[in-house]
Amino acid sequence: MVAKILYPVSQPDVGDLEALYVNQAVRSGWLSSIGPFVSRFEQEFAQLTGTKFGVSTSNGTDAIFVALKALNIGPGDEVIVPALTFVAVASAVVRSGASPVFVDVHPDYWCIDPDQITAAVGERTRAVIAVHSYGHPANMPAILRIARERDVFVIEDCAEAHAAKVAGGVVGSLGDVGCFSFYGNKIITTGEGGIIVTNDKDLAERCQYLKDHAMDRGRYYYHSEVGYNCRMTNLQAAVGCAQIERFDEILATRRRILDYYQDEFSDCGSIRLNPRMKWAEPVNWLVSALVVDADGEERDGLRACLKEHGIDSRPFFYPLNELPPYRVYAEKRPFPTPVARRISQSGLNLPTSNDLRREDVARIAGEVKSFLAQQR
Ligand SMILES: *Cc1c(COP(=O)(O)O)cnc(C)c1O
Repeated sequence: MVAKILYPVSQPDVGDLEALYVNQAVRSGWLSSIGPFVSRFEQEFAQLTGTKFGVSTSNGTDAIFVALKALNIGPGDEVIVPALTFVAVASAVVRSGASPVFVDVHPDYWCIDPDQITAAVGERTRAVIAVHSYGHPANMPAILRIARERDVFVIEDCAEAHAAKVAGGVVGSLGDVGCFSFYGNKIITTGEGGIIVTNDKDLAERCQYLKDHAMDRGRYYYHSEVGYNCRMTNLQAAVGCAQIERFDEILATRRRILDYYQDEFSDCGSIRLNPRMKWAEPVNWLVSALVVDADGEERDGLRACLKEHGIDSRPFFYPLNELPPYRVYAEKRPFPTPVARRISQSGLNLPTSNDLRREDVARIAGEVKSFLAQQR
């Protein structure tokens, strides 16, 4: 028998302010994608990332897809992506018509390894997607250096690292374009939703145009090219505006939860929590733990044991190059990804809801430690 889940992995931190704004949006009659909350959300989120323009989207995957399309990336092109990340990064590339090229991640901070990008850049490379994974920024200075030299675009995927900083800048503002997701388990949420941020006015306008059916400006129902509907609604943006107002508080609470975990595991050599390189200011998306030297079986055993005690968890992502629809791309441009594989097998995300108290974290960590004590 499986115990009732006492501790989900992540619950959105929403309350009265979100309810108030959604209510206002409903009563205003602006339910679709035109409405005051949409433009306010776009402006305020762009400001938060230190960029000039924000283009909201229906979700984070569409943000990446529209950004790729706006950069005119498509069939015949290659886009370098990390092997260890959420599948949306690869599926958006495939949907654009381009081919993903999977490269390994760095063992110390789990994001795309700049040396592996250098090894993989080729004639057809048009872009790199620098994913800031599990709250930790990718090594943007190194990535930008390589990209500028080879004339390839840098798309930042900041879905898991809202407001993390690297090289003195906020993620999303450092590359050519930044993409965010506001799915329910992200740091701030709009239910479903995403945004593209950039300092490039033309690019922002092109994203806005493509995500809204590519309708000619000034000429209703005239379309010079194929467009898409990747719009965010005013209802979603209402939630988002409330979340932005509460952003500092939400971020600080999440930070405190990671501090609790770090305290609890300070005496445990078998668990390595969220990395932090000295050049980076990560944020806490989900508490992420590597079980040192574990294989997939031991990690899964731990997850099953936690579940019996009502503690939910998530395994780390599978290396994307090992998944059925993406193997064909990996075989065309094969690069070894041993680090992604190792981290994938030994990692899990622990409960990170903002309502967790110190004693909850102590209980969760206690179960992890008692499992490992029995195993090792
Ligand atoms: C969540 C996530 C996305 C996509 O988000 P959706 O809003 O679910 O489409 C993209 N990239 C990464 C790295 C993510 O974690």
